[in-house]
Amino acid sequence: MKDVHLHFTGSLSPDYAYNLLKLRNPDFINRYFIQSATDLSAALRGMFTNDYKLNQKIFNDVYSLIQSATKPADYKETYNTYKSASYQLSLNLLKFGISDYTIIAGPDIDIDKTHARYLGMIHGFEETEKLYKNTSGKICITFIRNNNGVLKNYSYNTLKDICALLKQEPFKSRCIGFDISGYEYPDEKMFNSNLNILSEILETTKIYELSVSVGLHAGEIITGTQQDCLYDDYFIKLSKLKLDNIGHGTYLWMSQKHQKILKLFADITRFDICPESNELLTPVKNVYSCFDNLKKCGIKFTLNRDDPLIFNNWQSHQR
Ligand SMILES: [Zn+2]
Repeated sequence: MKDVHLHFTGSLSPDYAYNLLKLRNPDFINRYFIQSATDLSAALRGMFTNDYKLNQKIFNDVYSLIQSATKPADYKETYNTYKSASYQLSLNLLKFGISDYTIIAGPDIDIDKTHARYLGMIHGFEETEKLYKNTSGKICITFIRNNNGVLKNYSYNTLKDICALLKQEPFKSRCIGFDISGYEYPDEKMFNSNLNILSEILETTKIYELSVSVGLHAGEIITGTQQDCLYDDYFIKLSKLKLDNIGHGTYLWMSQKHQKILKLFADITRFDICPESNELLTPVKNVYSCFDNLKKCGIKFTLNRDDPLIFNNWQSHQR
């Protein structure tokens, strides 16, 4: 089985996350009476409600909590931490039949840390691949917006450094794409910033002659206010960039209202849909009922898990 949209922190093995939370955040573990990795999975999933707006907040809190408990203790630990985490992550994915996976992971603004981080991840994947043939782990490099809308790990120099890194093995064959993720809200300034950075990425990867995909997370956060219509113009502009993939794109396909814009992506851009998270974090009640709309508009799409540690949807996204 394949999954092309798995965030690193949100896809850590439950055992790995449980052990670190127990060590670094015992208050949380005790508050929810968590006594095992299974308890942790159930507790995280149990936090979500029927209110998608509240769930967005819950999601961000839970994500930050896991991130703070699992990040390397200090710089020297970066390589080992990422290696061990990725080894356990890939073994756990394999347990659920996922042998071909792309992990979305952010670089650091410091290229040496980025090097240690991605090399650790690749060596972690390799450990699993030595044990089990026909498995393959890839990395999608994501620039992340923080809660204030600021891209925390992006600068033009960082991008150039990463592109130079991607000219060398093992990064060349493992890091297959660029992405923008994190905080999103229908806001003109933020949209323009995303469009500019995407153009910069497209241009720079071309200069370095890299064969990588370029995409972004877009249209996932629906506010239910008038602001949402800002997405119309944003997606029209995005379609002109002929991106390889869009994470979610929920705003465009959740109803038939935006078919005209959706069709601009037909046969060009792949939509990576994550049923569980789309149903919990957006007004969409049943993702599967939207497939006809996507097919009618000629959209290629994949189904993914997004953050299975948090949504506890390891098993399958099929119903
Ligand atoms: Zn995502």
